[in-house]
Amino acid sequence: MENESDCVFPKSYVMKGGEGPHSYAQNSTGQKSAIEAAKHHLQNAVTKKFDFKAISASSNNLICIADLGCSTGPNTFIAIQNITEAIQLKCQSQNQSAPEVLVFFNDQASNDFNTLFQNLPPNRNYFAAGIPGSFYGRLFPKQSLHLVHTSAALSWLSELPKELTDRSCGALNKGRIFYTNAPSEVYDAYQRQFKMDWEAFLQARAQELVDNGIMACLMNVVNDIDFKVDLYLGKDFELLASCLTDMAKSGLIQEEKVNTFNVPVFYPHVKDLMKVLETNEDFSIEQSEVLDNNCFVVPNIESFVSRLRAVLEVLIENHFGVGIVDELFERFTDKVREFPEIMDVPKLKFHLFFVVLTRKFIVALLKAKSKEVREMVTIILERVEHIWDIWNVRGAIMFSFLVQVFLVLFAPFRPRLDSLLLQFLIWTAYMLANWAANFTVGLITNNAGGNNNGGNKKILRAL
Ligand code: SAH
Repeated sequence: MENESDCVFPKSYVMKGGEGPHSYAQNSTGQKSAIEAAKHHLQNAVTKKFDFKAISASSNNLICIADLGCSTGPNTFIAIQNITEAIQLKCQSQNQSAPEVLVFFNDQASNDFNTLFQNLPPNRNYFAAGIPGSFYGRLFPKQSLHLVHTSAALSWLSELPKELTDRSCGALNKGRIFYTNAPSEVYDAYQRQFKMDWEAFLQARAQELVDNGIMACLMNVVNDIDFKVDLYLGKDFELLASCLTDMAKSGLIQEEKVNTFNVPVFYPHVKDLMKVLETNEDFSIEQSEVLDNNCFVVPNIESFVSRLRAVLEVLIENHFGVGIVDELFERFTDKVREFPEIMDVPKLKFHLFFVVLTRKFIVALLKAKSKEVREMVTIILERVEHIWDIWNVRGAIMFSFLVQVFLVLFAPFRPRLDSLLLQFLIWTAYMLANWAANFTVGLITNNAGGNNNGGNKKILRAL
């Protein structure tokens, strides 16, 4: 390893900007097919779950939507169009005036937002705004969103697992750039990172969504995979790793750079995703579908290679420096020619997972309630303390007086009383009269000392 900075892996991964031949905008038909495959489910969710009456009453008939990890378009526009279409249809069917819609397009700050905004559909029926930043943290004010959508973005980890970036930099995954066909520690590290990220994502959205707000997530997942036998998503990263190793052997790039390069993407297992969701306190699962990946079609080797290049080019250039991607992807094209099965997407062992979550109303209510209760208790305690401050000596004297009246009235009968209870009460009154006198003297002394300490201390001293 040359120096420490070789270990530093960028935390921001964006797709290739612009609209050139290698751009994401020109090479994202695979992701577009996923959005189309989920369209019907997404529209159903909007139609069934959106309570327009509640929205129009609480937010002045404004619906706020966010697409997280939107990239440069055009897929994000298609997803938003699907959502707004469903909103309009529902409003028409209920004879309600259509709400105004504000769409927040979110991605990492280094995303090419210029290309995104230049290509906003001219006849759109929504207002548009950009929100830069990582969706693994808070992006919006509390309870400000009605619907969150995200597609093909949650596979990107917030960062590489620490085990792959610490001082032994890359040694754990030497010769590979992904967790497939790697030692189990590598897979475990990726999996742990994904779980932490997924929980952080849910936690942030739980705060930003209104009660009963909707979140629709579309992501690539796996079911059962045997890396030794199956054809799986990630095989392309293995081929790419072999190209990088070859380039290092030819002296075109440094071997250390290859050893420290890993792709921060994870395809979770459906059951792991569901486990987190089922135990989540803030969201309830409205709908979850595992969709086939049959909709993906790769017309030829060039477009297969370009799709991967559009996704990885920025990441690779950030790590290895500019000037290697052309050579790398030429070599990769040759490898794909040798192993064309990799392009047989329907045979690749992966699925699309579409899940609709709603922000639990009851949780928000309870959280709010517990805050209210805490505030109420504080107010009551303050009142009691205030009353005690004013009435302490007077209260003690009155109490002492009442006990003495009781004794004057009932003590003469004591020798003639058979009732054990009355005897006990008279005996207690004697004790209390004694205690009350001492307590009152204590309070007077305490107050006369000009003691400004809190109420608790005053009580203690008097006692
Ligand atoms: N949703 C689009 C783009 C998917 S590509 C579509 O379906 O075509 C994934 C996008 O997620 C990229 O633009 C990447 O920059 C973005 N992304 C990855 N990690 C992110 C993060 N932590 N915060 C915000 N955006 C992120």
